[in-house]
Amino acid sequence: RAKRAGGNRVEPFRPAFRSFGTDRLQLETDLRRAIERKELSLVYQPIVRLEDAEVAGFEALMRWEHPKRGSIPPIEFIPIAEASDIIGPLGMFAMEQATNDLMSWQRQTGELPMFVSINLSSAQLLNKELYDDVRALLAKTHCDPSRIKLELTESMVMENPEQARLVLDKLREIGLGLSLDDFGTGYSSLAYLTRFPFDTVKLDKSMVRDESDKKAILLRSVISMARELGMKVVAEGIESEEDALELAKMGCTYGQSFIFGPPMGSDSVLRLLKERFPLTKRA
Ligand code: C2E
Ligand code: MG
Ligand code: MG
Ligand code: MG
Repeated sequence: RAKRAGGNRVEPFRPAFRSFGTDRLQLETDLRRAIERKELSLVYQPIVRLEDAEVAGFEALMRWEHPKRGSIPPIEFIPIAEASDIIGPLGMFAMEQATNDLMSWQRQTGELPMFVSINLSSAQLLNKELYDDVRALLAKTHCDPSRIKLELTESMVMENPEQARLVLDKLREIGLGLSLDDFGTGYSSLAYLTRFPFDTVKLDKSMVRDESDKKAILLRSVISMARELGMKVVAEGIESEEDALELAKMGCTYGQSFIFGPPMGSDSVLRLLKERFPLTKRA
């Protein structure tokens, strides 16, 4: 930032800064058209039960294939969508696509006990229409609400705790799952967060991966506290089978990591499900 050094000092022209600004504007313009141009898609990463490595569900993760720049990661385009009105249609796209994909897997594999977990943005959470939108979507797709989980972070609910609790209570009441995402990156205690009706806690990979003995103690106590509060625990970004076993021993139910499976397209999910759960093996 330019310091105000007395007098009428003129800001030097900084091309790098300028191009950053126009670049972002250009991306925003491109993102605005991305949905209708079918450049956005969802990939799904398995969430597996640690005790037997069985697939329990999938997290939907958004991808953007930019016609000129190639693939742009969500950490770059989600904030652009969030800073503009694009997040509304983009969030709706994710909910609709994920629900339709789930229903299509269900039809083709015969009602597997499977869930899909969808990331929400704070603008969606604070949007008064969220509850009605979700209900309308469930009705239209004939989707069982308990097969949908919404992922939210601590900072999202803290932005407006009263409003957040109001809508989360209603969503929970109709049977949706609610996951507290990226736990361990914020500042609140799990005890405080029990004011919100989360049924699942997702431990951030930074917490899962810390090697220190003190962190292991923390991890163990967070997991047992979550369990005692009646919540399931998902560990993100587990790096080895040893760590997975260790986490399972601590009481962690699920894992989501490249070692169990990368995010994959809807077709690959269907192949995976047919392979793992052949109809002939089910009653
Ligand atoms: P997240 O919700 O915490 O999602 C998990 C991220 O961890 C994903 O990154 C996933 O690919 C990555 N990951 C999974 N296993 C491993 C592992 O073993 N090692 C490492 N290093 N990473 C792993 P991705 O897909 O790049 O998404 C990044 C973030 O973007 C997400 O974090 C979420 O906050 C946001 N995001 C993605 N899709 C959506 C969406 O549809 N809507 C909203 N609002 N946010 C989204
Ligand atoms: Mg997530
Ligand atoms: Mg996460
Ligand atoms: Mg995250």
